Amino acid sequence: MNINELNTISKQAERWTAEQILLWAAERFAPKAVMTCSFGGGGIVLAHMLSRLGLDVPVVFLDTGYHFEETLAFKDEVARLFRLRVITQQPALTVREQDAQYGPRLYERDPDLCCRLRKVEPLAAALRFLDAKCWIAALRRDQAATRRGLGVVEPHGLPDGRTVVKVHPMANWTRADVERYIDRHGLPRHPLARRGYASIGCWPCTAPAAPGHERSGRWPGTGKTECGLHTFTAKLGADGPGPGAPQATSPPPDGR
Ligand code: SF4
Repeated sequence: MNINELNTISKQAERWTAEQILLWAAERFAPKAVMTCSFGGGGIVLAHMLSRLGLDVPVVFLDTGYHFEETLAFKDEVARLFRLRVITQQPALTVREQDAQYGPRLYERDPDLCCRLRKVEPLAAALRFLDAKCWIAALRRDQAATRRGLGVVEPHGLPDGRTVVKVHPMANWTRADVERYIDRHGLPRHPLARRGYASIGCWPCTAPAAPGHERSGRWPGTGKTECGLHTFTAKLGADGPGPGAPQATSPPPDGR
């Protein structure tokens, strides 16, 4: 499938439900589709869909060594509940080894390097050893200005020269859609959600979010908005969501 074909699918998929997009990706790229999930945001929706649809797609969890205890417990609970095949990927260095090599609290002095060591390089390694051809993630256009141009299906080049097709079944969902889905299906919520944490990453870099600004609690006060997981690849044949793509505020097409 070439770039033009993928771009055509991406535009068609704007009218598909998230479940349809997930099914297409899992079947089209089987057994080389993987999903990433941090268990700290809307990823639980896709995890639940995988389970409902009976799709055997591995879920890659990046264990940075800095997760909240609540996140690790929540990940175990969700994995058990949805019978997920979770692949836990760790960085090359333990936190202690990183402290010895780069000095303590690297996250304060150089968070981009810390994210590269503890998230980006481990994910790149996981995509390599799993020989992933498709990477499914729960990104949404309404999460941040940096995500407004998100396509549903995007071919990307990896630094090692391979390509991967990124698939975003929830690209045109809103935060309200996520909440509605969680309520409708009675899904568990991350224990920190009720304390105002709307997007949950590593504890040194996560604070409660300002109302209506889901990712405002990530790296607060630093100007940093992305960890690099969704910027270390290069989109091929750059072509946004396409004319006529629904806006993030559109009513959900599938009663989510
Ligand atoms: S989010 Fe913070 S602690 Fe986690 S990898 Fe990035 S800089 Fe390090």
